[in-house]
Amino acid sequence: MSDRTLRVTVLGSGSRGNAVLVEGSIGSVVIDAGFGVRAMARRFSQALRTPESVHDLLLTHEHVDHASGAAAASKRWNWTVHGTAATLAALDTIPGGAPERVASISATSGTSIAGFEVEHHAVPHDAADCRAFRLTDTRSGARVAIVLDCGDVPETLPAFLSHVDLLVMESNHDRAMLQQGPYPWQLKKRISGGRGHLSNDRAAALLATSAHHGLQGVLLAHLSETNNTPSHAIDTARDALRRAGWRKDLLWACAQREPIECVDALGRSGHARATQLALF
Ligand SMILES: [Zn+2]
Ligand SMILES: [Zn+2]
Repeated sequence: MSDRTLRVTVLGSGSRGNAVLVEGSIGSVVIDAGFGVRAMARRFSQALRTPESVHDLLLTHEHVDHASGAAAASKRWNWTVHGTAATLAALDTIPGGAPERVASISATSGTSIAGFEVEHHAVPHDAADCRAFRLTDTRSGARVAIVLDCGDVPETLPAFLSHVDLLVMESNHDRAMLQQGPYPWQLKKRISGGRGHLSNDRAAALLATSAHHGLQGVLLAHLSETNNTPSHAIDTARDALRRAGWRKDLLWACAQREPIECVDALGRSGHARATQLALF
């Protein structure tokens, strides 16, 4: 095992479901469960992982694309569902319902989950209490930050995201594609508003202010299938990161339909292995 043991597998990301598996040197945790148990099991299998190896689920917020599978996954695999008190309370209101096995994370201090120190930061979004997370492997010290739905960038968020090995960040839409696209005006306003979603430009600017020489990789998440493309998101982020002096150039765009290759805290991806196995 590397002394920077930490591995991130985005099992799927977008408006039709999100789940991110973070594996550390002691345990594993899933961030968000926006898929039903069958789809979740299939995605684990595609990623060459098993849901039975996980005991903890951590929710960013209660929206269906992040939490609709929480209760069923908790029941099926005995996962404890962690979230802020406001997020857990809001689960009563969504399809899929509230899980029985829950644990509230502290509003003010870090929480220890599955061998990770979990810290959180409030982000503006039209949910009860949306959070960005920073997970630090307590044995290896490797660290990942995850920002999914986020309408605006609080002043203290860049500092919260700095000094991590990996960043998973929403890069939801290309502003021109959203404005010229087919969505109704009200929905365009909601998405681009201060409690909606990050555009490629805003995500790139946040990445540029959070980047540092130790950042090993960036995974762009929650891409709109209507108002964005992987190349728009990656090109925008890459340009901003290069201008900020980040030379590693290790960027991935997460997909809605299937897991992308896992990425470890040294910026190495497991793509070759997954592709090879898929041939058989
Ligand atoms: Zn979402
Ligand atoms: Zn949301």
